[in-house]
Amino acid sequence: SADKEKSGSVAKIKVVVRKRPLNKKEIAKKEEDIITIEQNLNSVTVHETKLKVDLTEYVEKHEFVFDAVLDEDVSNDEVYRETVEPIVPAIFQRTKATCFAYGQTGSGKTYTMQPLPLKASQDILRLMHHTYRNQGFQLFFSFFEIYGGKLFDLLNDRRKLCMREDGKQQVCIVGLQEFRVSNVDTIKELIEKGNATRSTGTTGANEESSRSHAILQLAIKKSVDGSESKPARVIGKLSFIDLAGSERGADTTDNDKQTRIEGAEINKSLLALKECIRALDNDQTHIPFRGSKLTEVLRDSFIGDSRTVMISCISPNSGSCEHTLNTLRYADRVK
Ligand code: ADP
Ligand code: MG
Repeated sequence: SADKEKSGSVAKIKVVVRKRPLNKKEIAKKEEDIITIEQNLNSVTVHETKLKVDLTEYVEKHEFVFDAVLDEDVSNDEVYRETVEPIVPAIFQRTKATCFAYGQTGSGKTYTMQPLPLKASQDILRLMHHTYRNQGFQLFFSFFEIYGGKLFDLLNDRRKLCMREDGKQQVCIVGLQEFRVSNVDTIKELIEKGNATRSTGTTGANEESSRSHAILQLAIKKSVDGSESKPARVIGKLSFIDLAGSERGADTTDNDKQTRIEGAEINKSLLALKECIRALDNDQTHIPFRGSKLTEVLRDSFIGDSRTVMISCISPNSGSCEHTLNTLRYADRVK
């Protein structure tokens, strides 16, 4: 995608890596930080400790280059500037934009994702009130999750939802509560409500949220002739997806049947997502979105004028080495 940017047209896909700092627990366990980030080179290097046949240790380096790499001291404001801010204006011009957070549980997906929709809403409302003043634009907010291949509304007591296509290649989620919003305080409340609903599942906060994809959508609509009374049409959309923990996709041989089913669904959806993003980047006309519920739900964001930002979150500790390499390899395939 970097080449396309150079050749003049705007890159459709941007892949960014974010490293979090070692936490207290890892420091207490004397775990080493095995990740070096060189922001000026856009590179991330994993220092993997391996054993020779005679059991002496050696370090194997794995270097990856992405569109941007963000070190542990980078603030959430900077993350916003690097990822979502540049694509906000495009949603007033019929673009569907999607920002994903990918990575193992505990790597910082939710920490990274949570502030982004609020900052984006602030910018969207500013554009609506200034640049696009009196043009009949409206902002709508919705928040749901995909758990075990099923959809649940996070702003309506986890009500089960179903999806259909409307024949015009628009995805319609039947029964999903959409809130028209006009100030950031309301948006903040809705984000908090949805996040709370997400984490109060039956098996405990972390466990539950690591097995679901949370999808927060901001839709820009416009009434046909600019009047408030006519039903509004979707112009553009900005979706924020806090993906299930990438390591959960490997839970396909677990003893618990439910865990196995969920693991298989997560595995399927992350693979399908990778294929869809790749197809998008290659300007393929056939996008394999039917591979999973996640990609079906995002179908209308994969066609037409679409933009994707993938934020790959990585843990710095030696104990996460294998998961970190998996995350970087996934990001490398998407790029
Ligand atoms: P995930 O959603 O991927 O499971 P979280 O976002 O919940 O991970 O992050 C795990 C823990 O690490 C949380 O306590 C979070 O506050 C902390 N954390 C994550 N990223 C950072 C960061 N960049 N800087 C400081 N703390 C972070
Ligand atoms: Mg999380």
